[in-house]
Amino acid sequence: MGEIMNKFKLGQTVKILDSGFLYSTYYTLATHLQLDKWVAKAEPKENSNYKVIGISIHPLKGDVIVYAIESNDGVFLVGEGGLEAVDLPCPFCGNVDIQFYDTEYVGDSYAPYCTIECGNCPCVMTGSSLIDVKSKWNTRNERI
Ligand SMILES: [Zn+2]
Repeated sequence: MGEIMNKFKLGQTVKILDSGFLYSTYYTLATHLQLDKWVAKAEPKENSNYKVIGISIHPLKGDVIVYAIESNDGVFLVGEGGLEAVDLPCPFCGNVDIQFYDTEYVGDSYAPYCTIECGNCPCVMTGSSLIDVKSKWNTRNERI
């Protein structure tokens, strides 16, 4: 991706925050990303969750990252500013009020690591940083 870092990762769950960032007639990018289900001028539904299935830098604007996102509504192309991350629910109990926090003490060592905890059932995931563990949690494809 060059020097520009994409804020959202492939497989991550996102929401459309601002449909003003929608690229509804961007045929060339849809073709480039091989988006068979993309339909020009389609309107996304409000408050749907989408999965990131493609990432590209806008070839004309250069510093804008465009994401291909998919749900049952279809496939859409949206600029980074129009999306927000959605934290996935617990894979075991479906709880959506997930807790993310830093843990400094691990047993008797002082290794900093981060934890995601369901809070409603014993489901827990850990990672080396909050970004790492959030990314693992939100891009998982199966039960953890
Ligand atoms: Zn749970």
